[in-house]
Amino acid sequence: MSQSDCIFCRIVRGEIPCAQIYADDHVLSFLDIGPVNRGHALIVPGEHHRTVLDMPARLGEHIIAAQQRVGRAIMEATGAEGLNIFQNNFATAGQVVFHVHWHLVPRFPGDGHELWPQG
Ligand code: C5P
Repeated sequence: MSQSDCIFCRIVRGEIPCAQIYADDHVLSFLDIGPVNRGHALIVPGEHHRTVLDMPARLGEHIIAAQQRVGRAIMEATGAEGLNIFQNNFATAGQVVFHVHWHLVPRFPGDGHELWPQG
């Protein structure tokens, strides 16, 4: 369930470094290398699935649990007062890395960011 040429599979396997926040048997979470706001994190399932439409529903519970854990942690660490959680599916919707993942973006009063998607 891992692909040799997928950048997120390579990060999950430890072949490419990342600023890891959290890991368990099902997901890895790390800071986005191109943050749209301070503390922008990603949650990536260990298994390779291209989009949320391909992903088995059984992973959903683990993804939500990780969103709660990581979301609370990054809000506390950054002092954020809000949190956007979103994900992109297929290139037309702005997906760049074709290994399903969730963006967690801390939000601050008056930070001026437009609602995602931006691309
Ligand atoms: O949802 P989408 O596919 O557009 O987003 C991919 C995200 O993965 C980007 O925000 C990009 O900055 C991030 N990324 C990363 N580390 C990499 C490659 C991409 O954090 N090595």
